[in-house]
Amino acid sequence: MKAAVVHDFTKSLSLEDVAKPEPGPGQVLVKVETAGLCHTDIHAAHGDWPVKPTPPFIPGHEGVGIVEQVGPGVTTPQVGDRVAMPWIGEACGVCHYCIDGWETLCHKQVNTGYGINGSYAEYATSKAAYVARVPDAMDPLDASVLTCAGVTTYKAVKLSGARPGWLVAVFGVGGLGHLAVQYAKISGAVVVAVDITDEKLALAKELGADYVVNAMTEDPVQIIQDLDGAHAAISVAVAPTVIEQAFGSLRRGGTLVFVAMPADNRVSLPIFETVLNGLTIRGSIVGTRKDLAEVYALHAQGRTRVIRETRKLEEVNECFEEVEKGDVKARIVFDLR
Ligand SMILES: [Zn+2]
Ligand SMILES: [Zn+2]
Repeated sequence: MKAAVVHDFTKSLSLEDVAKPEPGPGQVLVKVETAGLCHTDIHAAHGDWPVKPTPPFIPGHEGVGIVEQVGPGVTTPQVGDRVAMPWIGEACGVCHYCIDGWETLCHKQVNTGYGINGSYAEYATSKAAYVARVPDAMDPLDASVLTCAGVTTYKAVKLSGARPGWLVAVFGVGGLGHLAVQYAKISGAVVVAVDITDEKLALAKELGADYVVNAMTEDPVQIIQDLDGAHAAISVAVAPTVIEQAFGSLRRGGTLVFVAMPADNRVSLPIFETVLNGLTIRGSIVGTRKDLAEVYALHAQGRTRVIRETRKLEEVNECFEEVEKGDVKARIVFDLR
């Protein structure tokens, strides 16, 4: 089968023919239809994070496709079902976190396109219990984006505590932010979108943002404080300065949610104001299988729109460069059909 393989963190991905995988016990073999490009795939391919994947490996954790074969012991899903293979490729299912609805925190989790091969390939195997059923009527291109960008921002909005009457600020309107804006609106909050390009802010407005702020020409902290401050700020942009602005935009008692992970991994925030203003700072990492089912259900009901561009897997290296330069309006999805 055709696959995009990482052999070396300092080199481009190599497009090559590799052996088609066989589904082991409890696994399914999926013929990949579409595979979204998440920034995490770029970090994986470059070995940017403290815990690194082991080359050679195939990235991709927004894969959607059709189950072609099931391994021993699998009763669901069945051959012919459309499924997605999310970041949580497998968790232990029995630890404190798993049984408490926090499989996203399981120490034994194995991540798709990181600890096991992902969806930048014609076929992938995945643990049957952790693939997500994609509603039949849903466009797999949309489903791909929802499988990481969707569930990640949905969970971040949930953890922000967003509710009707709240002011929620979303910092960064791209592949993640355009969905965060929509989930914050669905929660009933008044939404402020902050970005540095008018094009992305126009998109945010189209998707329901009540206020937009161009941080190149305006001070988002001042503007949001003039609105009495945000109850919650969600940072999906990969720059420490943006996180500082998100922090500064909070009202007393507000919550800052970290989603994006800047490569240098450090931000400077004041303790005095955090204590005095009773602020909460929390991290949010993807979402559970249940969160993902909710994300698909909302989309199936027509409550969300996915903004994406379709590419060929052969263009993967050019696409990585475009994403790193910030040239992409929303999300890139490889179409392998
Ligand atoms: Zn992702
Ligand atoms: Zn566990």
